[in-house]
Amino acid sequence: MTTMRFGLALAALAMAGPVGAQLDPPAWTRPIAPFNLIGPVDYVGTEGLAAYLIHTRSGAILIDGTMPQNAAAIERSVIARGVKIRDVKYLLLSHAHFDHAGGLAALKRASGAKLVVGAGDAAAVNSGIPPGETNYGVIRFPAAKVDRAIRDGERVTLSGVTLTAVATPGHTPGCTSWTMQLPGPKPLNVLFACSVTVAGNKLVGNKAYPGIVPDFRRSFDRLGAMQADVVLPFHPESVDLMGRKERSALVDRAVLPKMVADARIAFDADLAKQSK
Ligand code: ZN
Repeated sequence: MTTMRFGLALAALAMAGPVGAQLDPPAWTRPIAPFNLIGPVDYVGTEGLAAYLIHTRSGAILIDGTMPQNAAAIERSVIARGVKIRDVKYLLLSHAHFDHAGGLAALKRASGAKLVVGAGDAAAVNSGIPPGETNYGVIRFPAAKVDRAIRDGERVTLSGVTLTAVATPGHTPGCTSWTMQLPGPKPLNVLFACSVTVAGNKLVGNKAYPGIVPDFRRSFDRLGAMQADVVLPFHPESVDLMGRKERSALVDRAVLPKMVADARIAFDADLAKQSK
């Protein structure tokens, strides 16, 4: 969920129109040709929602399923990148919102992969009911059975490729970023960054998620203290991922500090507004 969708929903309310799925940005469901980003990491998402395919010598890891109606397009993109769908061994998740977790159920059925999600979001994925309280209501998604609820610092390894979970709660209680290292003469740290936007989350009086404000702040501190050579977000426009790819500017250590600084400012402004 992003502020973009929230903004569109508000605009629709102002026009007295119904709020529904048709208000999602068209880019979220617009298929694009998959492509290689860096090393073993491919982009297999839609234009506006990222899904990442990580190749290993024995199968692949897929992060995020995006929306339910995108599952078939993601499957086609995985195959177009030379991976049989049954060779996807792990499905990982950033967080339990419909625009990231929605396609998991279908992708799990197709692949038979093990589904690994942040412990704080496991109940939400198992039920298809997003966690916490928001000002846009509950947008359900197809439930998917979680095989492993992962905690901070725990790892998923496939054929020598390791992804480490970094708990970055706030946007959801189980919002999980993932890191991996690309080997080479100069190894690169890649961060698959979970969302750090407030995006309609109730920050004041959130009974379903009372710790939301300190969680956001801890996650900002945590991410702010990390060094990432490559930041891969789940809303690609948040770091101009496509533009960076075009300009061969994916490797840039300034991206993460800027992302965190911008998120802190937006968070403080939203908190001040909600505290009135
Ligand atoms: Zn979200």
